[in-house]
Amino acid sequence: MNCELCGKETSHTVTVNIENSEIEVCEACKSYGKEVFSKGKSDSSQKQILQRIRSKKRTSSKTGLDEADKKELALDYSERIERARIENDFTQEELAKKINEKKSVIAKLERSDMRPSDDLRKKLEKTLDIELMEKIESTPTKKTEGSDGLTIGDLIEDG
Ligand SMILES: [Zn+2]
Repeated sequence: MNCELCGKETSHTVTVNIENSEIEVCEACKSYGKEVFSKGKSDSSQKQILQRIRSKKRTSSKTGLDEADKKELALDYSERIERARIENDFTQEELAKKINEKKSVIAKLERSDMRPSDDLRKKLEKTLDIELMEKIESTPTKKTEGSDGLTIGDLIEDG
């Protein structure tokens, strides 16, 4: 380190204020200015901020739903429920009691006013011995009507 005033090499410098500018000087030169006491630089606060940021690492949770066998509620679920209920000789109230639901729930289901929850559907299926789910059919690929034997050559006529 060199004294900023006299340029002498020194191991110890003192910060002094000379004419409104802070310079580092040697012990010999410090009398030329007013000694400035460092305000204690602290970079610890910066480290704390960094640590806080690091600890905030979010744990991203991916919800990978793999449905190998896709099924969905049958479109005619209401009819299936009603039919099965009648076949079993249950009133709506009786069926409701069997699955611990209100009669209005059965009525709504049979009017297609309500889609049963998974839980409710399972109870109905078990009690009535029916299947309310259907496999989703992949859209059937239409067979392209083959114009057999006809080639491009046949379509082009020589004038
Ligand atoms: Zn000096």
